[in-house]
Amino acid sequence: MLDLVTIPCLKDNYAYLIHDAASGQCAVVDVPEAVPVLEALAARGWKLGMVLLTHHHSDHIDGVARLVEATGAMVLGARADAHRLPRLDRALAEGDRVTVGGVEGVVLDVSGHTMGHIAFSFPGMCFTADSLMAGGCGRLFEGSPAVMWESLSKLAALPPETLICSGHEYTASNLRFAATVDPDNTALQARIAATAIANAKGEGTVPSTLALELATNPFLRAPLLKAAIGMPKSTDAEAFAEIRARKDKF
Ligand code: ZN
Ligand code: FE
Repeated sequence: MLDLVTIPCLKDNYAYLIHDAASGQCAVVDVPEAVPVLEALAARGWKLGMVLLTHHHSDHIDGVARLVEATGAMVLGARADAHRLPRLDRALAEGDRVTVGGVEGVVLDVSGHTMGHIAFSFPGMCFTADSLMAGGCGRLFEGSPAVMWESLSKLAALPPETLICSGHEYTASNLRFAATVDPDNTALQARIAATAIANAKGEGTVPSTLALELATNPFLRAPLLKAAIGMPKSTDAEAFAEIRARKDKF
């Protein structure tokens, strides 16, 4: 498994370093700002070879130019988003492989928050940014609920022990909403308590595990919450759409 370093950036963003100890190769996933990433590299003596971008929002790419200038790293991102990402050295689409040393990851199209949003699925860890988030999912700026539901369904099918490395520390507010549609879920109540304890200590709650998301994330649990939201005969995607609409108004 790759070494993983979670790097808080800006107010509530995350960047991630992944590193293959055998080869010394290293990549970063998203660059909200360059300085914390450069500091994390310097602290470990790692040399950055690749920048992996999930989507075009400024809070995920603003540090790319400075980081590339400092490291000479190659930039990889979605072909569908090439017109609105920093200049790509390699354009990616669903099913493409990205290797860090001897470790291979696969690109998943997880459109919904934006069209062209991709995730990077490596053994034991998946970089989901603003698609599947800790206790929630990204707002649907560009995609339909059906598109996002398909994206979340792909992520839900990964091994349950997979670390979900998402883009923001929004967990506490996401879980406050979750409790309104899933009030009897004891795993959710336990997660709310654990999140409050972590936050009180100044600690983040990301990455989480897919198993925890499957147990507590109301968007992944849409098929199980139909009765609770008063839509017992709806499709899974319709239930997801209703929960997403309620979150938008929360
Ligand atoms: Zn975003
Ligand atoms: Fe974001």
